[in-house]
Amino acid sequence: MRTADRIASLPPYLFAEIDRKAGLKRAQGIDVISLGIGDPDRPTPERIVEAMGRAIHVPRNHQYPSYAGAPSYRKACSEWMQRRFGVDVDPDTETLALIGSKEGIAHLFVAFVDPGDVTLVPGAGYPVYYTGGVMVGGETYWMPMTEENGFLADFESTPADVLGRAKMMFLSYPNNPTSAIANEAYFDRAIAFAREHDLLLVHDNAYSEIGYDGYRPPSLLERPGARDVAIELFSCSKAYNMTGWRVAFACGNAKAIKALSTVKSNIDSGVFTAVQDAAIEAFAGPPSEIDELCAMYQRRRDLVMEALGKIGIQAAMPKATIYIWAKVPEGYTSASFAEKILEEADVIVPAGSAYGPSGEGFIRISLTTPDERLEEAVARIEASL
Ligand SMILES: *Cc1c(COP(=O)(O)O)cnc(C)c1O
Repeated sequence: MRTADRIASLPPYLFAEIDRKAGLKRAQGIDVISLGIGDPDRPTPERIVEAMGRAIHVPRNHQYPSYAGAPSYRKACSEWMQRRFGVDVDPDTETLALIGSKEGIAHLFVAFVDPGDVTLVPGAGYPVYYTGGVMVGGETYWMPMTEENGFLADFESTPADVLGRAKMMFLSYPNNPTSAIANEAYFDRAIAFAREHDLLLVHDNAYSEIGYDGYRPPSLLERPGARDVAIELFSCSKAYNMTGWRVAFACGNAKAIKALSTVKSNIDSGVFTAVQDAAIEAFAGPPSEIDELCAMYQRRRDLVMEALGKIGIQAAMPKATIYIWAKVPEGYTSASFAEKILEEADVIVPAGSAYGPSGEGFIRISLTTPDERLEEAVARIEASL
């Protein structure tokens, strides 16, 4: 049996490798604390679980779902965009149900990238922006992200010969892994750049609901002209503690939505309709629920930031997302520091370099762990230093 070359050229999925190492420790009876994957520890709100309970008893929901998403789901997505951002998207032509944003990201490569085409990818970003390209024989150009540029991916320095072959550009603010946020001027420059170079701009807005100190992340589609060049991805995963449900949506440019929909209808058969019904309930939630979620993460953020400050590890105070992007101490690389923490403190923190070349020199700490465990983890890191 011979597998495709693309399998050999994929790096192991970031968290699969971390899980393997932690599994070995746990098998020895060691209490490993994971500050690794961004997977909310709190359950899905009861009102959403109840909606699922009702939807699962509807026989129609047991049949194949609509490929693009039920009309009621796409309408709910569109209404949510209007309520939340004041953005109008047509439910039929400008929205598309996704089996999680990850699925949408991977399939965008099938829709837009031919072998040899280039995708502009944030220097530190969600791993599928890179692996999605590998899957289709595309090339990746890593846009530099530095502390000095506020971790705003620098697309403007892309060499002309690369740009000539580029088809698609990913951005994601509030950002995973750096927790950086972007302002309107940056979005406007990205839109103008995509227009000038005939690129699809994909804005992955997975953390649109998770902001602190009064900050509410915007939608790229609020910006003038965005819809001419861009689509945006939203997900129930982080906003409603629904990572296991696999439900998200894409919205924006109709041509891009149609291309992605064409690919998907040949690969998957859509999101379980009962899950779409649950997501409709999710979008209808009271703002107080999101406020409470953000307050919880904000408390954890403050707790970890204070503890890191005490042990001399530097990190910028996040305004959004569920991550702290911390600098590794002098004398370590990202990987050697992450390795030391796993070996000596039994704490999992991903090396920044695993997110791309701009991640070197950093580790990412996820706040999706209960307070006591977070405190314990930081105390163990301190003891290991
Ligand atoms: C969590 C995350 C996703 C994946 O979301 P799903 O909808 O669960 O697939 C996509 N992009 C970023 C940046 C994320 O952090």
